[in-house]
This record gives sequence, C-alpha cells and structure tokens, in this order.
Amino acid sequence: MPSDPNTIILTTAPSSSHAAQIIYGLDLRGIGAQVIENPLKSSDRYAIILVKGDEAVARSAITVIWDAMLDATPRAADIDGNCYFCGYNIAGLMPPVICPECGHPLDTIAARRAASEGRID
Ligand SMILES: [Zn+2]
Repeated sequence: MPSDPNTIILTTAPSSSHAAQIIYGLDLRGIGAQVIENPLKSSDRYAIILVKGDEAVARSAITVIWDAMLDATPRAADIDGNCYFCGYNIAGLMPPVICPECGHPLDTIAARRAASEGRID
C-alpha cells in the first residue's frame, strides 16, 4: 500500500511488461511515474503512480498509451463481430458501440483490455 494518501494511481497493469511500456510512454511525454504493487482490488498486479507532472496531462497520456497497446483489439468483439461479453453480433455498428444486448460499451479501454486479456469484469 502507498503510505501517502495523496498517491495518484494513473492506471493499473496486469504484467511488468505492460507497466514498463506505460512508464516509457509517460517518460516520452515528460511525465514521471513509478510502478508499485497494486493496492486496489483488481486482477492487475501493478499500479502506475504519478511522481512528476500534471495529473490531467498524465491521464490523457495514459489513454493514448493504452490505445496504442491495444492496437490489435480496436473493439471488444471477436473476429466475426460478436460482442466479447455476450456474443451478440455487433458487426456493422458504427462506433462508439454499446452492445444492444448486454449494454457493455465495447470501444472503451476497459472493455478492450478485458477482451485482450481474456477477463470478464
Ligand atoms: Zn454484449
């Protein structure tokens, strides 16, 4: 657990390689961050905390970095265009897609991460 109650967790990551990519991406943008054990209840083992730089800038950078890391998963759907969460066919729907069957927003980083990492949460 971080001892400082003001610790800002920018994102969490499932693996050290994901965490390293995020730290690198933030560093390229002049944002200082550090990897710690994730204190949040989540399946992710690591948390990335802000140590130097503007929080809003860091958060928008995190979105860009995750988007790039999830390049192979542009939507939480299988190759046939079926919703990752319920299997409903959403092929042909224009983004942003919210599954009409189960209600999951399928273009978000969280949904894309779940599909990429094989999680349901
Ligand atoms: Zn669905």
